Amino acid sequence: MPYKPKKIKRSWVNERKPYGRRLAENEKFYNSWSWRKVRKAFLQKNPTCIKCEAENKVTTAKYVDHIQRIEDGGAKLSEENLQSLCKFHHDSKSGKEAHGYKEKKGIPGKNT
Ligand SMILES: [Zn+2]
Repeated sequence: MPYKPKKIKRSWVNERKPYGRRLAENEKFYNSWSWRKVRKAFLQKNPTCIKCEAENKVTTAKYVDHIQRIEDGGAKLSEENLQSLCKFHHDSKSGKEAHGYKEKKGIPGKNT
């Protein structure tokens, strides 16, 4: 009978988490009551997008973003790790993170 070869444990290689499962875990958190409560309170205190503010614009924030990603060990419910973002800035940040880019200062050619 054929058998599955034993996995060689290479301690110097970081174990990779399956992408799908990580997403599901996040979804569970973002749907949680405690997150909704923190998010709502944070938006009430910080109703404008901080990125737009840096560009001297005032835009109503629709999203509360984790400055340090939860996957990277960022605090989930600590206000110190949260920032208010508009849709544009949230999408551009999350999109880059999902593709493994670190946020850079100033996006060339994107002065909307
Ligand atoms: Zn913005």
